[in-house]
Amino acid sequence: MGVLALQGDFERHVHALEIAGACAVEVRTAAEMQQCDDLVIPGGESTTMLKLLNLMDLKEPLREYLGLKSVFGTCAGAILMAKEVLNPAQECFGAMDLTVERNGYGRQVDSRVVQLSPSASFTERMGEGALEAVFIRAPIVRRAGAAATVLAEYEGNPVLLEQGRHMVATFHPELTDLTKDTRVHKLFLTKL
Ligand code: GLN
Repeated sequence: MGVLALQGDFERHVHALEIAGACAVEVRTAAEMQQCDDLVIPGGESTTMLKLLNLMDLKEPLREYLGLKSVFGTCAGAILMAKEVLNPAQECFGAMDLTVERNGYGRQVDSRVVQLSPSASFTERMGEGALEAVFIRAPIVRRAGAAATVLAEYEGNPVLLEQGRHMVATFHPELTDLTKDTRVHKLFLTKL
């Protein structure tokens, strides 16, 4: 497993994947990316990540990777994987048929920890129980195409979705108490 380590909360994702039972490495080059069967794009700042992807010649390699392998985008990572970004409009990779609005819940102060009731399609595979979600300047999924399956919602908006081999979360699953729950990362491991 690889975790894109240009910016954001990548160390904690490596830790979460290891607790979930995977072998995870930080990815900063196209060669490192190609060696991984699966990639996490962490939360952070999607505009900064786009700039760094450009600067490090990783945009095309990432586009190719998304066409071949599984990617899990969390928060800023989810923004990069969408088909359309609003507030403001921004370049994205269109790996999942989603329209997302950046900072949909408000500005920096608008961060929160909530308990979600995951959908049956999540609990049947990963087990019952509330799912803790840490939101930090999170995007809101305003539209999810028919190909995307909603795995959890918050206030009527999808916050955890899958589409084929890809997954996105608008929250930070890596910031939850990992000794209690790593189901979100474990679900991504089933997509290997
Ligand atoms: N607000 C950030 C963005 O628009 C995402 C925040 C996050 O990843 N925690 O890119």
